[in-house]
Amino acid sequence: MTPNPKPPICDSFPKDAERATGLESLVMQAFAPGSGLSQTIAQFKPRSGQTEMAVAIARTIDQGGALVVEAGTGVGKTYAYLVPALLSGTRILLSTATKALQDQLFGRDLPQLVRALGLPLRCAVLKGRASYLCMHRLEMARHDGAQQASGEAQALARVEQWAHATRSGDLAELDGIEDRSALMTQITSTRENCLGAQCPKLSGCHVNQARREAMDADVLVINHHLFFADLGLRETATGQLLPKVQTLVFDEAHQLNDTGVQFLGRQLTTAQLIDFANDLLATGLQKARGLVDWHGLATGIERAARDLRMVVGQAAVATRLRWHDEAPERVGAQEWRAALEDLDHACVQAQEQTSRVAEVDPDLERMRERAGALCSLTESFLKPCPAGVVRWLDVNTQLRLVESPLDIAQALRDAMGSASADTGYQRAWVFTSATLGDEPLLRWFTEPCGLSDATTLRVESPFNYQRQAALYLPAGFADPADAAHSAQVAALVAQAASRLGGRTLVLTTTLRALNSISDALALEFSGSERIHVLTQGQGSKRVLMERFRSAGAVDGPGYILVASATFWQGIDIPGDALQLVVIDKLPFPPPNDPLAEARANRLKAAGRSAFKDYFLPEAAVALRQGAGRLIRRESDRGALVLCDGRVSTRGYGRRLLAALPAMRVVADAGEWDALIDDLTRASTKGSPPS
Ligand code: SF4
Repeated sequence: MTPNPKPPICDSFPKDAERATGLESLVMQAFAPGSGLSQTIAQFKPRSGQTEMAVAIARTIDQGGALVVEAGTGVGKTYAYLVPALLSGTRILLSTATKALQDQLFGRDLPQLVRALGLPLRCAVLKGRASYLCMHRLEMARHDGAQQASGEAQALARVEQWAHATRSGDLAELDGIEDRSALMTQITSTRENCLGAQCPKLSGCHVNQARREAMDADVLVINHHLFFADLGLRETATGQLLPKVQTLVFDEAHQLNDTGVQFLGRQLTTAQLIDFANDLLATGLQKARGLVDWHGLATGIERAARDLRMVVGQAAVATRLRWHDEAPERVGAQEWRAALEDLDHACVQAQEQTSRVAEVDPDLERMRERAGALCSLTESFLKPCPAGVVRWLDVNTQLRLVESPLDIAQALRDAMGSASADTGYQRAWVFTSATLGDEPLLRWFTEPCGLSDATTLRVESPFNYQRQAALYLPAGFADPADAAHSAQVAALVAQAASRLGGRTLVLTTTLRALNSISDALALEFSGSERIHVLTQGQGSKRVLMERFRSAGAVDGPGYILVASATFWQGIDIPGDALQLVVIDKLPFPPPNDPLAEARANRLKAAGRSAFKDYFLPEAAVALRQGAGRLIRRESDRGALVLCDGRVSTRGYGRRLLAALPAMRVVADAGEWDALIDDLTRASTKGSPPS
């Protein structure tokens, strides 16, 4: 990787409007005190970091190229990228991490600013096809006897009722049906089963309507999944989902690499095979009963998928097995190959038989294509793993066979290169998030994204962390690998949370720690009216967060939430509901994870240190993200506890601590006690200090 050749943009930040370009000058005016924005938007308050970021983005839009901006919590990064993008007069693509964030951007921030700036812009939102009702599949579900007999008939009736009223067909409008319910698969389309131009419901198709609106929009809001889905289509020259634009902004860009590697790799799951077998049977019986032995075909695929699962045996659920040779580790090579060949044979049979009747109906043609796609997947997993990618097996009740690139660097470089060739002009690419690294050049983000030549900018959070937050590193805890460690974490949490009235988020790094800490706390507070313990997995993330936030109200219980993985980032609990974040252990990536191992090996092969250049930055960034849950507003107060002694005893601890916001450090248990007293006094739920 070459070092960043350009100085940080903040070094050359213009000191006055005369030195700025036209767009920079417009942006400065928009953010100036007394501007139209502060007069029209009640909560808008000029902030120097926000203006700095907005001007840097304006310059990138003017000059083209890539800008990476880390904007600390409270900078106001959404307005900082929206204002220059909207004022630029260019066509804009805004990508964020989740559908919920898309809805927030499209439903709240974007219309508010477009109105305030008085710009006649057409805005649209586009999600993946699984987010829209498919009218054709709804019709099929209506006629599917098995569906009617199931307990989901009532939910289907609700969908039918809503289908008459909805304009967008966006399933987010429909409350009370879980994203992952079986009904969702029945009423949404996939690329494989969509009938396209041959669909009898084409004129009322919500997916097509959303895509048409996207193609006509001046400002389009998408998510990272869709961006990579579009890249995949362009690579295979099978079409495109997104319009050509001049300005691209990726918010929550820290998730780009993880999302991209999932999309750019290959996956085959036993659940996907069983879904296919079910669809094959239902479609075959509906469209060509008697012409093919549909039962035999479907049973063959289902049996082969189950046999493959059996070969893996009783390997613990939620295990990830390395797969360097012919078979995944701990799985007999001969048995694995035989089962995979059987599966391949069953898929070939399905492809041959559906080819015989594909002309009868477009649904059968789609089944032929799906069988073909499954054949190429089984065949590729029978061959040795190609160079430059990593292969592994996820073991759960189902299996997931995965082949993944190590990062998105090449794909993104190609996309940026071909975009300029496509359009004939240099486009502006802006990547932003609250956490993109733990050093000024943001290499944690830029290297895997192929952006080592991009200009980087870090804008500090305007919060006063010294005053608002404190860091406690309790002494005398067992080694995190020791079983006693989780009990000690639970005891510390129980003591502090009972005084605070809940208001505590416990972030763990392993499922084992999650369960033991949560069990101990549940026992401690069983029967308590005042404090309830919530554990990740007890409900959807949205439901858990709604309950936790409700603790801001004076009446009702306070909460302790014990969670791992996705709760380390992207959750926003401002105000009184959260005052204490406890991290059980330093969040290093598991060294035996196949993807982490492959990334580490690649660095070693290049003569670099895997620990210094991969494991340590990963832990530092995760730690920053976890700590970032604590202070979300200027008025928030709280404490962060890190229960891993290595941060004080190991040399690398200094780098990890430096990655955290500059909080006041609590010296000892006495000071910790006093701090909890202070927080208790400030909270509406705390018990009086003893
Ligand atoms: S075109 Fe595809 S997505 Fe649209 S209604 Fe038909 S099958 Fe469904």
